[in-house]
Amino acid sequence: MSTYSEINDVLEVELKHLICCSNAKCNCNVTTLEKSCLLMLPMQSTSKRKKGVTLQTLIDSEFSKWETINGNCDECNSIVLKKKTAIESTSSVLVIQLNLYTFINGVSKKLIDNRINAVPTSNVTINKRKYKVISAIFHEGEEMNRGHYTCMLRTDKQSEWCFSPVRDCTDLQVIKKKWPRGAHGAYMLFLEQIK
Ligand SMILES: [Zn+2]
Repeated sequence: MSTYSEINDVLEVELKHLICCSNAKCNCNVTTLEKSCLLMLPMQSTSKRKKGVTLQTLIDSEFSKWETINGNCDECNSIVLKKKTAIESTSSVLVIQLNLYTFINGVSKKLIDNRINAVPTSNVTINKRKYKVISAIFHEGEEMNRGHYTCMLRTDKQSEWCFSPVRDCTDLQVIKKKWPRGAHGAYMLFLEQIK
């Protein structure tokens, strides 16, 4: 067995993309499955919401929403289709990439006013599997190609976290640190299934 397939066994996420015709009288629909080791989660500004959102709310809304897309229905020639992506299955570890960047005229812009609340204390449930965040990678800086990456890990104690500057690749500099309010700067979250 290759190393890659062993990693897959632990991380694999299966997404189900459903594309339907928007014409109510047409039943045309196409389902495709996609396997990945990463769950991409688009982020939105939460500045208009006083309290921010939880990771569960973000996942639930992203993987239940219908999006209108342009296309071509094979049966009725409608050019308006609708698309939904649902999480079909997950594994014992879940890696979430928070998509913090938007592209405006080809230039990436980082979202800085998004907040995710209660990450250390709340669980995430996906298809009856329960997860909690055990570590995270943070990105400091405005641009995608530059900046500084750091890492936080949950210690044995439930609500205690330690911090390490990833760039230096050393565990000599690990310090205790509080989880940042609103998960500010979080870029990747690593979740482990709990019983
Ligand atoms: Zn149609």
